[in-house]
Amino acid sequence: IRVYPYTGDTNYNLAVSAAPLAPVDLAGNTLATARAITVGSSTTSYTDWVGSTDTNDYYRFTLANSGNFNLGLTGMTADADVQLLNSSGSVIASSVRTGTASESITSQLSAGTYYIRVYPYTGDTNYNLAVSATTATVTPGYSAISGYGLVNAAKAVAGALNQTPFADVPTFGGANDWGVNLVNAPEAWARGYTGQGVVVAVLDTGVDRNHADLAGNIWTNAGEIANDGLDNDGNGYVDDVYGWNFANGNNNTLDGNRHGTHVAGTIAAANNGFGATGVAYNSRIMPVKVLSDSGSGSYSGVAQGIRYAVDNGADVINMSLGGGSTDSAVQSALQYASSRGVIVVMAAGNAGAAQPGYPASSATSWGLAVGAVDSSNQMASFSNRAGSNSSMRYVTAPGVQVYSTLPNGGYGFLSGTSMAAPHVAGVVALMLSANPNLTDAQVRQIITATAGNVA
Ligand code: CA
Ligand code: CA
Repeated sequence: IRVYPYTGDTNYNLAVSAAPLAPVDLAGNTLATARAITVGSSTTSYTDWVGSTDTNDYYRFTLANSGNFNLGLTGMTADADVQLLNSSGSVIASSVRTGTASESITSQLSAGTYYIRVYPYTGDTNYNLAVSATTATVTPGYSAISGYGLVNAAKAVAGALNQTPFADVPTFGGANDWGVNLVNAPEAWARGYTGQGVVVAVLDTGVDRNHADLAGNIWTNAGEIANDGLDNDGNGYVDDVYGWNFANGNNNTLDGNRHGTHVAGTIAAANNGFGATGVAYNSRIMPVKVLSDSGSGSYSGVAQGIRYAVDNGADVINMSLGGGSTDSAVQSALQYASSRGVIVVMAAGNAGAAQPGYPASSATSWGLAVGAVDSSNQMASFSNRAGSNSSMRYVTAPGVQVYSTLPNGGYGFLSGTSMAAPHVAGVVALMLSANPNLTDAQVRQIITATAGNVA
C-alpha cells in the first residue's frame, strides 16, 4: 500500500483487514455426495482441504477390472488420515500415521465401486491425494502374506470326498498337541481317515526309525532282502530296505541331526497315549536322506531323492529344505512327481522374505508351498510370505514351537517352516487315505480352496 500527496498536507485514516478465502472443497462430505474421480493406470492427483469446518472429504471411483490399487496422501501441515471403503461404505483399509506424515494404502481390489475418505485427526490442512490402479487378476481369498491361509483338514479331507466339512470334535490331547488341533486333524480322524495306506517320503537328514513313536510307521522296501549285498528289486540301490542315503551314497538313513526325525513325527508319530501324535498317525514314513547329518546336501541328491520316492511307492513327499538358487534337475524331478500323482509339500523358507524360496517357489506349477504360523494362527516373523502371484499354491501351518520326536527316543520343540510343511504333508496323507486317486492338481485345488482365507 502506498499513500502519497498529490497537493498539500493532510492526515488520513487507513483501515485494513484480511479474511481467509473459503478453503477449496471439491470433495463432498458424505458418501452420497462423494466426488467422482477416475482411478487408472496413470496416477491422478487431487488437492483439497480438511479441518475443523470440513471433517470429511469423500471420493468415489469405479474399477472396471480387478487390480492393484495404490493411494498416497501427502503435503499435510496437520494430522489427516485416510480410509478405503467398499461400495456399501464399510472400511476395508486405512492409513492413520501420526503428525504430518504421509499416508498410503495399497490393496488388491476386485472390479466395483469404492470410496476414499480423507478426514482430519487434529488441525486444518491442505492435502494432495494421488491414486492409481493397475489391472491384475485378483483371486478371492489369496493374500500376498499368508497365501490361501491356514490348512484345514476337516474341510480338505471332506473335499477329497466331495462332502461337506466334517463336524467339530473335542480338542485332542494336551498343550503339546496344539498343531494337530489347529489344522483340524481330529475331525478327519473321527471319520476314520488317519493316513492308512499312504506313504510319505521324508527327504531330510534321515529318520530315527527305532523311535518308539515312529517304529510302527516306517515304510520298508518289501522287494529288498536286508544285508545280502544285492539289489534284489533291481531299483539301482543295494539293500535299500529303509530307503536310501543320497547325501552319503549308502543305505544308512538314520538321522544324525534331528531335523528329519522331528519332521517325521509331525507327520506320523503314533497315536498311542504318549509323546507326540502325527497329523496322519497311521501313514508310513519313507526315509530318504538327502541332507547329511550337518544338514547340507546337493540339488542333484534332492532330485535323485524325489525320483527314488516316486519310483518306490511314495504318495506324498515332504521337503523341509531349500537353497539359494534354482536347479533344472530338481525342476524336472518335481514335474515327474506331479505327473505320477505324487504331491510334493515344500517349506517356504525362513528368511522373512516376501515370497517363497526355492524349491517352494515351484508351487506355482507343482505341489504346495507352506509358511509358518504360531499357535494363535499369527504369521511367524521368520516365515517367507506367499508373494503377489496367486498361482502360488501357498498355505500356512503350525511352525512355531512345534513338539515332535527327536533321535534316540527324544522329544522337543522346534520352529521353522520346516515344521509347518509336515503338517500339510500330513493333511495330504489324510486326504489320500480318504481318496487315493487324487491327482497333484486336485490336491492343490482342494487344499487351497478349503484353507483359512478362502473358506
Ligand atoms: Ca534295491
Ligand atoms: Ca505317540
